[in-house]
Order: sequence, then C-alpha cells, then structure tokens
Amino acid sequence: MAVCARLCGVGPARGCRRRGAAREQRRGAADSEPDTDTDPEEAGGGGVTEDDEVAERIEGRRPLPPSVESGPAGRAPLSLLELPPELLVQIFGSLPGTDLPSLARVCTTFRRILRTDTIWRRRCREEYGVCENLRKLEITGVSCRDVYAKLLHRYRHILGLWQPDIGPYGGLLNVVVDGLFIIGWMYLPPHDPHVDDPMRFKPLFRIHLMERKCATVECMYGHKGPHNGHIQIVKKDEFSTKCNQTDHHRMSGGRQEEFRTWLREEWGRTLEDIFHEHMQELILMKFIYTSQYDNCLTYRRIYLPPSSPEDLIQPGLFKGTYGSHGLEIVMLSFHGKKAKGTKITGDPNIPAGQQTVEIDLAHPLQLPDIENLRDFSELSRIVLEVQEQVRREEQEQQQEEEEHSQPAASQPASPLGGEGAEGEETAAGAEGTTQDKAPASQPFVLPMGVISRNEDYPRTCRICFYGTGLIAGHGFTSPERTPGVFVLFDDDRFGFIWLELKSFSLYSRIKVPFQNAQAPSREAFDEMLKNIQSLVT
Ligand SMILES: [Zn+2]
Repeated sequence: MAVCARLCGVGPARGCRRRGAAREQRRGAADSEPDTDTDPEEAGGGGVTEDDEVAERIEGRRPLPPSVESGPAGRAPLSLLELPPELLVQIFGSLPGTDLPSLARVCTTFRRILRTDTIWRRRCREEYGVCENLRKLEITGVSCRDVYAKLLHRYRHILGLWQPDIGPYGGLLNVVVDGLFIIGWMYLPPHDPHVDDPMRFKPLFRIHLMERKCATVECMYGHKGPHNGHIQIVKKDEFSTKCNQTDHHRMSGGRQEEFRTWLREEWGRTLEDIFHEHMQELILMKFIYTSQYDNCLTYRRIYLPPSSPEDLIQPGLFKGTYGSHGLEIVMLSFHGKKAKGTKITGDPNIPAGQQTVEIDLAHPLQLPDIENLRDFSELSRIVLEVQEQVRREEQEQQQEEEEHSQPAASQPASPLGGEGAEGEETAAGAEGTTQDKAPASQPFVLPMGVISRNEDYPRTCRICFYGTGLIAGHGFTSPERTPGVFVLFDDDRFGFIWLELKSFSLYSRIKVPFQNAQAPSREAFDEMLKNIQSLVT
C-alpha cells in the first residue's frame, strides 16, 4: 500500500529509505531546501524530541484542517491525521501489534483509532494464526484487543516446544495457539513397539479469556475436565505449571483405577498383559514417579535442530524402541562429522537429556554381504576393527596436537577450530560425504541373536556408519559409550545395533509440523543441548 510507505521507520515499505535520508539531511542542514511533500516548518525545527520524531514519521500529504490536532502551534503540518479514519485503521492494522502501543501515545486521535477492533483482529490472525470468528467474542464483552494483549501477547513466551523436568523421564510439550485458546499438548510416543504409528497427544493445560480482565489458566490433567490451574513464567525459556485442585486428578476407584487407566492410555496394556513381563517393575515405577507431580511441572525450552543441505537426512525428532522401557523420543542433530541422538524422553537407566547414540559420519561401515550378515561375529569383527581405527586416529591426533602446541604455540587456529576435534577429520569426512550422495540401497538383515522389538524392520538400507551408544546401570550408574552400528534405512527411518547388548533400536521420524520451535541460531541450539544434558543428576 502506497500510504504504508509514508510510515517511515515503522513498517518495511518502499520509499522509507529516501525519506529517512531526507530527514537526516534536514537535520544536518536545518535550512536546506525542504522536501516537496513535507512540512517546511519541520525542516527548520531545532532539537528533535521523541514526539517530534514520531510525528515526523507519520507526515501526510494534504494540508491539515484546523480542527485536527497537530504539533506545536503555528505549524501547518501535512499529517497522516488527515487521512480518512478507515484508511488509518488499515495502515495501523498492518503494523506489528507490539508497535501499536507507542503509536497510541502519539495523540488522542491515534489512541482512539487504535481502539478499533478490526486492527486487533488482524493482528491476532497474522501474528498468531487465530482464524476463529472473533466477532462472536463481542457478546462476552471481550475485545480482540483483549485477546491480543491479555492472552496471545502475554503468553507468547510459552509458545513452542518444552521438556518437563520429571526426573529421568522428560517429555515433549508443545504449546500452541488453538482457536481462542493457548493449549499445552503433551506428546506421547505410540504404543510399543509400533514406531511408525503417529504420536499421541493429550492436553495438560489451557489458557483463555473468559472475561475481560485477565486470562484464565486451567489444568486439564485427569479425567474430570478443566479445573483451576496456574502458570508462572519463571525466566526466559522456563515456565512452570501448578494445579490448584489436584483432587480433580483422583479417581473414585483409588490408585488401582488410576494405574489401570494410566496403563491403558500410556502403554495400551492391561494389568493382566504386563503381569508376566519383566517390564512391569519399570512400568509401575514410572507410574508412581510421574503421578506424584500432579501436573505441577517446570518446563525448559527445546529447539528443533537446525538443518543444512549437507546433512545425511533432515534432522529432527524420532520415536525409537528402547527394549523394556518402551518407545522414547530422540532428537537427531548434525554437528560436522558427528551426528547426535539426544533423548527428549528417558528412563531410569539413561535419563532424558543424555546423548543416547553418536554417529561417526567420518567412518562409514561396509556391511558383509547378505549371506554373512546373519553372522553376528562377522559384524562384530568389522565394528571392533573400526573402533580400533578410531582409537588410533584419536591418539595420533592428540599427539599431533601436543607436538604442535609445544614448539609454536602461536600456530593459527584451524578454521574449524570452533568444532574442536569433531571438525578435524576432513579427509576421512570427505570420503564419507561422497558415499552419502550415492544412496544405493543394499539388502539388510539383523544378525542372528540380535534382539529387535520390531520384526518388521526395513530389509534394505542406504548406508551404515560406526557409532557409539550410551549404556548405564539403573540410576544412570557407570555410564559407558559402547560400539554399535548406525543403519540409515530411508529419509525417515534409521536403526542402531547395540553390539554389547546384542539389541537393535528402530527409529521413525515424528512428522508433526511444530511451530515456534526453530532455534534462533546454531549457538542457541548447541547451548540448549548442553543445558538439557546437564539437567539430569
Ligand atoms: Zn489439575
């Protein structure tokens, strides 16, 4: 819109630069020839106050009628105020909502125009995707401005992906604007072992404007419907929820009924199903541990991994099998010659936040042909050979670094210095990358004796890499990285063979288009990864 361009410095529009430059010029030489379509008085003004500046930004074309308020007496400014109000409504409606309060401070006319609800309806739609018929709000006396200011803007910092602090278990919460609500959805993996099934989700809380004054927070936990809750934004990237009526979580049948219901929902099992399984202890423990929180949780922000065209596959979130622990959520991210799988949900052995697998992209593995692939000892031999090679390379590198550092400490840093050891193996890495680009599929079968929860794992794969998997005793005791094989099946599935455990995990991509989850920078993502890892004790 042409008029939009007149709002120099407020919105991105054509013509702004010219006017900005003209303004600078005027400031520099007060008596220079005035711009043809600006107020000559203005150019002669002395010190520019903040108000003048804003007024200056919103100059208009036609002469000001005497009735319209203007700057200091004696001015005959050409002003935006001369535009018909409906045009101003359009202009203001195209500006970011966060800029509107300062615009309201300019003059009473602007303030009055900014009370027009269509402006705020548009802001709700464009900034927060609210497509709901906001007109019906008016019946309740709630305006779109209320919705924008008291709901959407107020709680904008909690939109996106979060991990609850539930001991080793973690979790994935997605906070979204849904109609006239802000809802916190807890995402749960599908029932074990169906990794290809879609994610399940249930609401943990919701926020909405029931009346004009302020937004209402409701706890959605339990089966008795929404009830009184509370949200506290602790600091940047952290908030906590509290339920004020935990009696709403209790069931008439007591703990027994609560456990049965939880078991059915969380695991898709009955009490009889798990009676004979050794996983029953783990399941019961998780129930006792997680239910004691009663939806009073602290959440920390998580970002989706940044991607680059060189990545082996699109990074992101995956569901993976973890034996008796059931399915867990793992984030796959790429870091130079390494890829990392970080647990978003965890278990008493390896808690959420830990790096469950690390893939060494500089060391592709050539699997034996299909006849010999069944032979576990053959695969084991190949992997251990690579492990030995990796160890040697690391030693050599260490020695090299020591030699370099001793005689001349002033050696220029490698351009990949920031990556540390990860970025060093460029030669081997290049070899790896060329192989990535040729995704010829090869037959795949698990070696005899390797346990998989899914018998229907893919029977062809693209490429394999050497990797390590983290194992530990109960309570994350004696954690150890052990050798394994990363198997890339296709764009959305990969596997990991845990050599020492003789077990296989299958991972399948979580295909949910999460909003507000992109990391602002690579550094912010790395920082987030480091933080969630250090959370767990
Ligand atoms: Zn509650």
